[in-house]
Amino acid sequence: MSETTQQQAKKQVPLRPDIFTLPGPGEKPRLLGCRCPQCGEHFFPRRRICLGCGHQGLEPAELGPRGRVSTYTIVHQKTAGSLVEPPYAIAQVRLTEGVVVQSLLTESDPAKIRCGMEVEMVLEKIGENAEKDDLIAFKFRPV
Ligand SMILES: [Zn+2]
Repeated sequence: MSETTQQQAKKQVPLRPDIFTLPGPGEKPRLLGCRCPQCGEHFFPRRRICLGCGHQGLEPAELGPRGRVSTYTIVHQKTAGSLVEPPYAIAQVRLTEGVVVQSLLTESDPAKIRCGMEVEMVLEKIGENAEKDDLIAFKFRPV
């Protein structure tokens, strides 16, 4: 099956490099973390020395995309330089691997957020860079 498009597809660029995967069709995004081969603990972002046992030489590991909200807060004030319009929710999400990640949620209505709820990582366009490429960041949405 072939498909022609009038417009060339816009390039997607992660807001920060080496933080998450840009998935292909049918794939889910994952966070780029690491795992200690000695004690099995996972970390995000990547680091060189294990905080659990001090082992050096951690292995790259893709983490997520699922986790649970540990705690959250709703932000109502726009901070200088922020790309996000308030109100928005920032949560601490405990991934299945045990790593706690601070992240925006797609949901900002406190009536629809609760501690312990299951969430899944998604990628969203949050702006454009100087080359008009889409800048992509990760968030978590309720499952
Ligand atoms: Zn370790």
